[in-house]
Amino acid sequence: MSNQKSPFRVIVVGAGVAGLTASHCLQRAGIDHVVLEKHKEAVPTEGASITIYPQVVRILHQIGCGEAIIKASVPHDQLVTRRPDGSVLGSTPFFGFVKENHGADLLPLERREFLQILYDNLPDKSPIKTKCIIKDIKESTDGVEVVMSDGSVEKGDIVLGVDGVYSMVRGIMWHHANKATPGLITEKEKASFKTHWKCLVGIGPPEPSLGASDLTVTHDTRYSFEIVAQPHCTFFFVYFYLDEPFKSPNRVHYTDQDAEALAASVADHPLTESCTFGRLWNNRVRSTLVSSEEGVLDHWYHGRIVLAGDAIHKMTPNIALGGNAAIESVVSLCNHLHRTLAKHNGAKPGLAALTDAFAGYQAERMERVKYAIKISGIATRIQAMTSPLYKFLAWVSPLLPERGAPDQVGEYIRGSPKIGYLSSKGLPSGRLPWKDEEAEEERKKKLAARQVSGKLDTKQVLKAGHLLQMMSVSVAVVMLVSAARYVPFVSEYNAQQLLSWVRV
Ligand SMILES: Cc1cc2nc3c(=O)[nH]c(=O)nc-3n(C[C@H](O)[C@H](O)[C@H](O)COP(=O)(O)OP(=O)(O)OC[C@H]3O[C@@H](n4cnc5c(N)ncnc54)[C@H](O)[C@@H]3O)c2cc1C
Repeated sequence: MSNQKSPFRVIVVGAGVAGLTASHCLQRAGIDHVVLEKHKEAVPTEGASITIYPQVVRILHQIGCGEAIIKASVPHDQLVTRRPDGSVLGSTPFFGFVKENHGADLLPLERREFLQILYDNLPDKSPIKTKCIIKDIKESTDGVEVVMSDGSVEKGDIVLGVDGVYSMVRGIMWHHANKATPGLITEKEKASFKTHWKCLVGIGPPEPSLGASDLTVTHDTRYSFEIVAQPHCTFFFVYFYLDEPFKSPNRVHYTDQDAEALAASVADHPLTESCTFGRLWNNRVRSTLVSSEEGVLDHWYHGRIVLAGDAIHKMTPNIALGGNAAIESVVSLCNHLHRTLAKHNGAKPGLAALTDAFAGYQAERMERVKYAIKISGIATRIQAMTSPLYKFLAWVSPLLPERGAPDQVGEYIRGSPKIGYLSSKGLPSGRLPWKDEEAEEERKKKLAARQVSGKLDTKQVLKAGHLLQMMSVSVAVVMLVSAARYVPFVSEYNAQQLLSWVRV
C-alpha cells in the first residue's frame, strides 16, 4: 500500500469519446483526476456521425446524459440495402426490433454534438485541460508524472491512456514494459492493427431519396456506400478495400487531393434510383479520408499505465461499434478501480492491487471486444462484397427472417457492462433482459431459495437434536432405576441425586 498524502489520482490522456466518459465515471465514483487533451478545444469541430447503441444509452442514462442524447437524435427508421445500380434489394424495420428488444433506440447523431453533450453534462468541468502536449511519462514505485511539452508536470497514481488509435501513451507504455521485461511487447503485438480499408467520410444537407432517417447501404464490389439520413443532414461513408493492406505502426496520411480523386472515381455511382454519390459529394459541408484499422492488443496495461478505447481495440465503423466499445471499456475499468479503492478504505492501493484491477478489466472485456471486431469486419466485407462468399451473403441477407439479425445483435447488446456504483433505474425495458440484471435476479432467487432450505434444515436439526436428547434421558433413567433396584450399594439417595443431574 502506498503512503497517503494526497487522494488517489488518475491522469487521463485524451478527451475524446472515452476520455470524457472516464471523467463522468471518475467524478461519480469520487475519484480525483485530470483529463489532458492536446487540442485547444475540449470539443472538436470536425468529425461526422456517431451512432449510440442501447447499451450505451443505458450508461449515458446513468451519468445523466441520456435525455440529451435522445433529444439530439432522430432514431433510424428502415435499414435499406441497395444493389450497385441503386435499386432496392431489401428494406427492414431492423431498428424497431432493436428498440423492442432493449427499450432504447439506436441513436445516430453528429459526433461533435455527442461530445458536446458529454462535456456540457459533466458535474465539474475543471478536470478537463486543453492544449496539453504530452512529452513523457515517468513511473516510480508509488506514482506517475506526466510531463508536458511546456515543462509542466501532472502527478498522480495511474495514467489512463485514451488517446486514440495512434496512442502516444501506448508507445510510452510499451517502452517501459520492454525496459522492465525485455521482449514483453513483441513486434508482432506492435503490428496488431491491420488496415484493409480507407473510408471517405462526410456530412451534407438532407437528400430526400435516402429517406428522412433511414440507414442505406449500397453494395458494390470491393467498395460500398453507407448513408445515415437525418431530417436535417446526411452523413456519408464510402469504404474502399485496399489493394495493399498494411500493419501498424505503418500509417498513411491522406490529403484533400487524395479524397477528391477517390470521390471523383465513384461520383457517377448510383446510391438510389435518382441520386448519385456525386450529388452528396458536391453538396457536402465537410469531408475527410481516413484509414480504418482492425485489431486488438494483448497487453492493455503495464505498471501504472492502463489503456482503453481505440488505443487498444479498433474495428471498422460500418456497424458503429467502436465508440460504443470504447465507452464500455472505460465503464468496466472504472468499476474495477472503484471496487479496488473501496476495498482499501481510503488508503492508496499499491501496484499489486492495481495490477489485479487492470487484469480483471482486461479479462472482462477481451472476448466481447474480439467479437465486436469480428462482426464489424464481417459486415464491412459483406457490404463491399470482397469475396464470392460475402457477395452471396450480401444477396441472401435481405431474405432472412427480419428478427434474426436484431435478435443476434441483441445477445451482444444485452451483455454490456453498466456503471456498477450508479443506479440504472428509470429506463424503459425491452423484451430481452440485460444479462447483468438477469444474473442479479438469478442470484437473488438462489439466495432466497437457499435461505428457505436453510430454515428447513435448522428446524430439522433442532427436531432431531430434541429427539436424541429425549432418547438419552430415557435410557439414562432406565439404567439408573435398574441400578437402584439391582445394585445393593447404590442407595436410594444416590439414585435420586443422579436422576436430578440427568434431568438438568
Ligand atoms: C468514419 C468513422 C465513423 C465512426 N462511427 C462510429 C459510430 O457511429 N459509432 C461508434 O460507436 N463508433 C464509431 N466510430 C469509431 C469511434 O469513432 C471510435 O471508436 C472512438 O472515437 C474511440 O474513442 P477514443 O476516445 O478511444 O478515441 P478518440 O475519439 O480518437 O479520442 C482520442 C482523444 O485523444 C486526444 N489525443 C490524441 N493524442 C493525444 C496526446 N498525445 N495527448 C493528449 N490528447 C491526445 C485526441 O485529440 C482525442 O480527443 C467511427 C469511426 C470512424 C473512423
